[in-house]
Amino acid sequence: MNYACLHTHTTFCDGKNTVEELCQSAYEQGLSMLGFSAHAPLPVGSGIVSQWHLPQNKLDAYVEAVQKAKREWEGRISIYLGLEIDYIEGVCGPADHRFSAYNLDYTIGSVHYLTKEDLSYYFTVDGPRDEWQQGVQELFSGDYEAAAHAYWTNVRAMIKAGGFDILGHIDLVKKNNPAWWNDQAPASYQKDAEQLLPELKNAGIVVEVNTGAMNRGTMNETYPSAGILRKMAHYTIPVTINADAHSTAHLRGNYDQAIEVLKKSGYGEIVNFIGKSRDLQNKGPLAYTSGPEGWVTELLP
Ligand SMILES: [Zn+2]
Ligand SMILES: [Zn+2]
Repeated sequence: MNYACLHTHTTFCDGKNTVEELCQSAYEQGLSMLGFSAHAPLPVGSGIVSQWHLPQNKLDAYVEAVQKAKREWEGRISIYLGLEIDYIEGVCGPADHRFSAYNLDYTIGSVHYLTKEDLSYYFTVDGPRDEWQQGVQELFSGDYEAAAHAYWTNVRAMIKAGGFDILGHIDLVKKNNPAWWNDQAPASYQKDAEQLLPELKNAGIVVEVNTGAMNRGTMNETYPSAGILRKMAHYTIPVTINADAHSTAHLRGNYDQAIEVLKKSGYGEIVNFIGKSRDLQNKGPLAYTSGPEGWVTELLP
């Protein structure tokens, strides 16, 4: 099986290693494809202050570094240029096409933030637990189900607006709430999650099975949970496996567990990205003819 990771952060945003270090390590670890997905710069003057996004004035350098790696590693490992773009209600989203001039190979659409309408208050659902608890108190009077509903509403709006290839960590909102792990979330949450699935299928969006929280030791399960994966399998929604790597140590981290949960959930295959914008003539016909452009199927071992 070909191993790939399209969800990777470097020192350009909040990762620990450089583009070059990640390429070298991915090659040594036997990955066939490596994609870079820096946290895309937030719009200038958005009103949101962040330490973990790629600053706007480093975007060109990031693009150049990945393009350089693409040339240098050609023939050994396929390198792809991407961005992880935030959907923030009323502020920005992957559908804005703010980065279309950069000839990106792919983009990941993610919801991290919940905000007050006037942006006088905002927080990330995957931040430190005390910030999450404070945020739920501030925005939802301590009602966790209401916070989850707001999160899922944002994910749904992002899917509807489109403009991205991969849905990032679909159920990120569970991270700080152990009561929701192991598919123990309340019925309203499960219903909200399930409602997205036909829309995802119609949009041809690939959902990542993200091992990032397992790699960081914060949670012992993938995004999405097994329960969501089972429902996704019913809709035959294509999935790919990503490490959400913030260091070389995370590349390919916990992929065996991801494969295991996929198989238990009814998946026999995943898709791997081979590049949309590239000349595919020498690569033979796309195996995944009924699926998204630029992806090939890979049978699970
Ligand atoms: Zn993310
Ligand atoms: Zn990420």
